Amino acid sequence: MQLSRKASLKAYNSFGFDVSAEYLVIVKTLDELKGALGFCAENKLSLLVIGGGSNLILTQDISGLVVINRIVLKQVESTSDGDFLVTAGAGENWHEFVRWTLMQGYNGLENLSLIPGTVGAAPMQNIGAYGVEIKDRMEYLDALDRESGELCRFAAGECGFGYRDSVFKRIHAGRYIIISVTFRLSAKVGLVLDYSGLSAVVERQGIEDPTALQISDLICDIRRSKLPDPEALGNAGSFFKNPVIPEQQCAELTRRYPGLVSFSDQPGLRKLAAGWLIDQLGWKGHRQGAVGVYDKQALVLINYGKGSGGDILSLAQAIQASVADRYGVLLEIEPRTYP
Ligand code: FAD
Ligand code: NAP
Repeated sequence: MQLSRKASLKAYNSFGFDVSAEYLVIVKTLDELKGALGFCAENKLSLLVIGGGSNLILTQDISGLVVINRIVLKQVESTSDGDFLVTAGAGENWHEFVRWTLMQGYNGLENLSLIPGTVGAAPMQNIGAYGVEIKDRMEYLDALDRESGELCRFAAGECGFGYRDSVFKRIHAGRYIIISVTFRLSAKVGLVLDYSGLSAVVERQGIEDPTALQISDLICDIRRSKLPDPEALGNAGSFFKNPVIPEQQCAELTRRYPGLVSFSDQPGLRKLAAGWLIDQLGWKGHRQGAVGVYDKQALVLINYGKGSGGDILSLAQAIQASVADRYGVLLEIEPRTYP
């Protein structure tokens, strides 16, 4: 186990915040992870597990041990009904894994192409895009319980998946380290094309009977045109979740603001496009010192290089206050804040 002291985390978070970890270790196997946890316990250190660091706001130096999860593994098992149970190690790069499954002919994850980060972090917030969430394709995950030291298996139905949510973010926060995730994929999985932004592109390009790989390619193109590449411009994707509000409140808002963008959700609820709310208030392209709001997508906050987690949070608070003031709606921050 190679342990570094006072190590920079700049390369390990997609905002590029220049904070350090008291101790840092990169683990590539389950045994190395167990060794790191042993070191943590012996020295009574706190622990933060990072995958790709693309859903994090690091506001200060992190005390204790930071584990960078790079556990790699790919396994495939065929089932009697013609599906494939495809398992990936938590440290596998998510997008590379998605592309690998598609190249093998295992369809199902195409709509989740080009989401940054690792396989192990994907269940944390039930990643979703273009009408598909990981809960729709996941069979189970294996995780190490920090309390008992045992390996545990969670079936998808036991993960409390919701909109950008799971038990691992809430009641089990900090307790389980995800080791691997298993998906049920197959050539038979139907394509999900009804998401407006996607169906419009398929139609425009005149593709009659697209393959899953073609859908993945299209989604990569759309995402590259709309979202900043964290390598070039520090960001954590959508900074706020889309607020879900009672239908009646939505109807009242729509009466006052006829252009309001909302979508059906669970019965009695509507999901508002947070980006629209922020955009209407003139925040798109706004710059506040070294941070700002991306000029092509109001949901994305940017670190232009020298900004800090604190700078991003104060910009976020100003946006939240203006949205609450105009629309009476609270925007919830999506990425996790540490320490
Ligand atoms: P990290 O940021 O490293 O960690 C996130 C959280 O998970 C932290 O709390 C961390 O402690 C915990 N964690 C990480 N690994 C493990 C593990 N093995 N076991 C237990 N806990 C762990 N998200 C979407 O849902 N949909 C999108 O379309 C999307 N698009 C994005 C686009 C851009 C440009 C960016 C920058 C981000 C986007 N995101 C999106 C957010 C982000 O990519 C996802 O949330 C992703 O799953 C985070 O993975 P990560 O490995 O970077 O997690
Ligand atoms: P978009 O297509 O411009 O849509 C804006 C918002 O409207 C999205 O947040 C989406 O909600 C909602 N929406 C659009 N069509 C919908 C439909 N048919 N049914 C229900 N909701 C609909 O969004 P975008 O920014 O380009 O992102 C495209 C997809 O990638 C979205 O699914 C988005 O969530 C995902 N994405 C996520 C992140 C992240 O960091 N979490 C970053 C970038 C992109 P949903 O978000 O619920 O889909």
